[in-house]
Amino acid sequence: MRLLLIQAWSHDETAYRSRFSSLLSYPSLTLAVLYALVPEGLFEQIDVLDENSQRVDYDRAHYDLVLISFETSSAVSAYKHCDAFRERGSYVAVGGYHATALPEEAAQHCDTVISGPAEKALPAFLMDWAAGHPKAFYRDTNVCPADFPLPARDVVTKKRKLKIPAVIADRGCMNGCKYCSMRTMWKSDPRPVEEVAEEMRSLRAKHFVFYDPNFFGKRDYAMRLMKAIEPLHVLWASDATADFGYDHELMETAYRSGCRGVVVGLESLNSQSLAGVYKRFHDADKYEEIIRNIHSHGIGVNGCFVMGFDDDTEEELLALPERVDRLGLDLCKFAILTPYPGTRLYDEMERDGRILTKNWDLYNQHHVVYQPKHLDPQRLHDIYRHVWKEAYRWKRVGKRVFGSPALFKGAGGFLLGANIGFRYIGIK
Ligand code: SF4
Repeated sequence: MRLLLIQAWSHDETAYRSRFSSLLSYPSLTLAVLYALVPEGLFEQIDVLDENSQRVDYDRAHYDLVLISFETSSAVSAYKHCDAFRERGSYVAVGGYHATALPEEAAQHCDTVISGPAEKALPAFLMDWAAGHPKAFYRDTNVCPADFPLPARDVVTKKRKLKIPAVIADRGCMNGCKYCSMRTMWKSDPRPVEEVAEEMRSLRAKHFVFYDPNFFGKRDYAMRLMKAIEPLHVLWASDATADFGYDHELMETAYRSGCRGVVVGLESLNSQSLAGVYKRFHDADKYEEIIRNIHSHGIGVNGCFVMGFDDDTEEELLALPERVDRLGLDLCKFAILTPYPGTRLYDEMERDGRILTKNWDLYNQHHVVYQPKHLDPQRLHDIYRHVWKEAYRWKRVGKRVFGSPALFKGAGGFLLGANIGFRYIGIK
């Protein structure tokens, strides 16, 4: 029996990533986890394919079972693969975010849909499949950290990838931002800190990225984890919410344990826009102070902004590049608001007839797929392009890189590479 595991990517994304992917992507953790969940001895051969950097070849070999994981932006590619493998006689099962949000849609292209976390549902499906009676739908949300396997990182391609392993300590977040897709997929407790530290130690890497959606969200847990990894003498980065920048003890502990960068979803400089998507725990008036505080602890900040909230105005969005300059960020990123299926934002927009297209290829934060409240969709898209171009003029890139405290911490090369990479993505 042969099994093929695929993480699908949208062709739009792979087209530009293929030239630049080693600056942009980490080896797939999804595939490493899925592989580790396959019961031993069930298959004679298991192949693993990350479409972000590898081509899907339908005729390379015959697979008895093909398992495809995908996000909303890669749903069109994934469905194409499903149809092609089914035509060739393979049994096809799917899972991942989009299949969790819209299982009935996914079912039209495959034999089995696995929704939600895979830890229990995937092995259950595989055993049923091997016994000859697989069901059409599987969903088991009742998972806990004890169910998480050690990812099989060695089986996943590292070609044209950053040589930095990704780790997850806590995949939950207690906030409830209206547009956030995390809650559709993950609800679980954090892993024991000793286990996370041991996993990192065993990888013998010097740099790590945490995929936790809100690393510092559970403060006590984050403190314990950081103290546990401090003796490893590694450098790491993670996501954070802006309130991280108020907590000096937390920032100091983070730096000591190796934190050198945080990605903060600042989202908007308009307080009403933040409140409108239930992100009241961010105060746009304090962003400058917060970033200064984080810098004072030797940690760089990548600030992410979302354009197209209901309270956003054209004037404010056009002023973003100058206002971002004043914040003193090391890196900045812009996205168009995207109502992903499965989120409250999507449900609201669907109810109000504001969803303009369900071409999932366009749900990648670069396109306007809904009717904005105060702007024409094309105008919002034009402003988005303009903001990227302005924010990534060479003059601004130079100012960000050479004005950054990160330069003095030996991270100047990384920062320059990241700024150039983001410039390439943003104004491609
Ligand atoms: S803080 Fe981040 S991860 Fe948490 S709900 Fe909001 S957007 Fe999602």
